Amino acid sequence: MSEIEKVNCLIIGSGPAGFTAAIYAARADMKPVLYQGMQPGGQLTTTNEVENFPGYPDGISGPEMMVQLEAQAKRFETDVRYGFITKVDFTGPIHKCWTEENKEIHATTVIISTGASAKYLGLESEQKYLQLGGGVSACAVCDGFFYRGQETVIVGAGDSACEEAHYLSKLCTKVTMLVRRDEFRASKIMTDRVKNTPNIEILFNTDTVEVLGDGNVVTGTHVKNSKTGEERTIPCTGFFVAIGHQPNTDIFKGFIDLDETGYIKYAQPGTSKTNVAGVFVAGDAADKTYRQAITAAGTGCMAALDAERYMAAMGH
Ligand code: NDP
Repeated sequence: MSEIEKVNCLIIGSGPAGFTAAIYAARADMKPVLYQGMQPGGQLTTTNEVENFPGYPDGISGPEMMVQLEAQAKRFETDVRYGFITKVDFTGPIHKCWTEENKEIHATTVIISTGASAKYLGLESEQKYLQLGGGVSACAVCDGFFYRGQETVIVGAGDSACEEAHYLSKLCTKVTMLVRRDEFRASKIMTDRVKNTPNIEILFNTDTVEVLGDGNVVTGTHVKNSKTGEERTIPCTGFFVAIGHQPNTDIFKGFIDLDETGYIKYAQPGTSKTNVAGVFVAGDAADKTYRQAITAAGTGCMAALDAERYMAAMGH
């Protein structure tokens, strides 16, 4: 059996929440160990330009921001590791975690910053332009600005889709909303808001067949009405997907209290505490409302400070 490693503070996940927690924990001499997870750098690595993170007046690319956050965490000697945590056992006072190589780690404190993943339709053309950074996005607040004065399409019919369609309508000349059923899932107030916005066109019973492009950027969307079979092409330069997010919390099931959609529940509002003493959460794994880099970073700071206080109270 391989040797068990003991750590003061294990941070799981490498988005803005995880790295901010690492910066604070490292500066407090907690010698944090951070596992980067399946997508090193997190969701920002699929974003082009970040223009709304304070302190970057000229903007910064998502991947570049994550490189800088990692460098800042390493500057204070955070032990940043490739790999991911596949299993935990939070039943005792020592929090046990296992990596994909079955290495066992015993952590006094754990900061969960595993984030959430935006859901996509899964079409090949959608994934192609997403990877190219050519006009497919799952975050209107992040990327809507790049489509000012242009036409966009948004898929979804929940509160997020309505909120994002309304956000886009203020920037874009026209927003076409593709709703797969003949009704919205969103609340009445949100639905009314999009229905009453003149430059939002709602197409019900409409599925996306393909995202069209010139090989570099999106130029349109090919759609089909599931009731009539009618197909048409909608010109657009931005294709937004707002069909929900999946929090990356599966491994914590049974140990950490999750809500009905899998988001981690805060045990005490206004803190980063979970139902397990010594285990804290930061970022999108517990946030289905704001989902911003800056809010993730803020809660990462909170988690590190809460972890430090927990360690102090335990006499470390
Ligand atoms: P939801 O799960 O509520 O809605 C997802 C929407 O996407 C549904 O309309 C669904 O259609 C549609 N959808 C799913 N898969 C596909 C697909 N493959 N093709 C086309 N459409 C698809 O997610 P949200 O992100 O909107 O909201 C998550 C939670 O956050 C909700 O509880 C919501 O109320 C809350 N929220 C609240 C806000 C607020 O109050 N300001 C703002 C944002 C979110 P269908 O209806 O047919 O299943």
